[in-house]
Amino acid sequence: MNEKIINGKECSKIIRQNLKERIKEIDKNLKLVVIRVGNDEASKIYVNSKGKACTEVGIDFLEITFRDDVSEEVLIDKINELNNDEEVTGILVQLPLPNHINTNKILNIIDYKKDVDGLTTTNIGKLNNSEVSIIPCTAAGVIDLLKFSNTSLESKNVVIIGRSNLVGKPLISLLLKENASVSICHSKTKNLSEYTKNADIIICAVGHPNLINKDMVKENSIIIDVGINRLDDHICGDVNFDDVVNKVAKITPVPGGVGPMTVTNLLVNVVKCYEFQKN
Ligand code: NAP
Repeated sequence: MNEKIINGKECSKIIRQNLKERIKEIDKNLKLVVIRVGNDEASKIYVNSKGKACTEVGIDFLEITFRDDVSEEVLIDKINELNNDEEVTGILVQLPLPNHINTNKILNIIDYKKDVDGLTTTNIGKLNNSEVSIIPCTAAGVIDLLKFSNTSLESKNVVIIGRSNLVGKPLISLLLKENASVSICHSKTKNLSEYTKNADIIICAVGHPNLINKDMVKENSIIIDVGINRLDDHICGDVNFDDVVNKVAKITPVPGGVGPMTVTNLLVNVVKCYEFQKN
């Protein structure tokens, strides 16, 4: 069974090792600044793991926190200050933001050359236009895992489930670039299994445990499970792993699949931002 597993930890380790070497060669300290608003426990955990990963590869890390009643103006001023600070390589606003803040407006204040999450309209447009851009970390991680597992994408029928800005939408451009045929499904899709049964590759990013079972997948297909669902006693993805594992050719586990790739690509994006700014 092990040969079927696409191991995100292993893939991530290789990328981080190469990155460490690259960072050593750079004649400047790289610095990532994360802005976190409020007391959301999950956000605190995510930011901590980003900080730890930065330290591990030699990137300076600073977390700036605000109370959840912070105004848009205060956030905008802080982001502008960081945009103009030559010592800051990358800026990340940890999502979600409180409801009174216009997330899209705030994200678009970030200089696109410091936009480590790749969520500014400029970087999204560049990606869709096949220009060099900062690519959203999870979507980039999915492509890394497909390549790491020697999965050829050309002419393959790929079904993405989930159309978020973070995962599903950037994957459309990334997969088209690899000459795959792409279908994208969402909560209003009728007969999801008609799509998935014909897919050579399924990428599932929804957040519903057991959304995909063995009756919905083709023999020897490849499954990338992006979903993270926290149940009482364990974490699982969107795909019923035990049910499908004997039918498919390759599959990512949850945890240990896409998860480690997201933070790794954040580090990759800090280096890319440095290169963007240098050129
Ligand atoms: P999101 O913004 O909530 O998007 C979920 C998507 O799933 C939406 O497009 C939604 O459709 C679609 N959907 C909901 N119910 C569906 C159904 N029954 N059938 C088909 N599609 C359905 O979520 P996200 O930020 O993309 O995250 C998705 C999942 O991936 C979550 O579990 C999240 O925790 C996980 N995630 C993991 C990582 C990682 O590092 N591994 C990173 C990011 C996200 P509509 O657009 O119609 O609402």
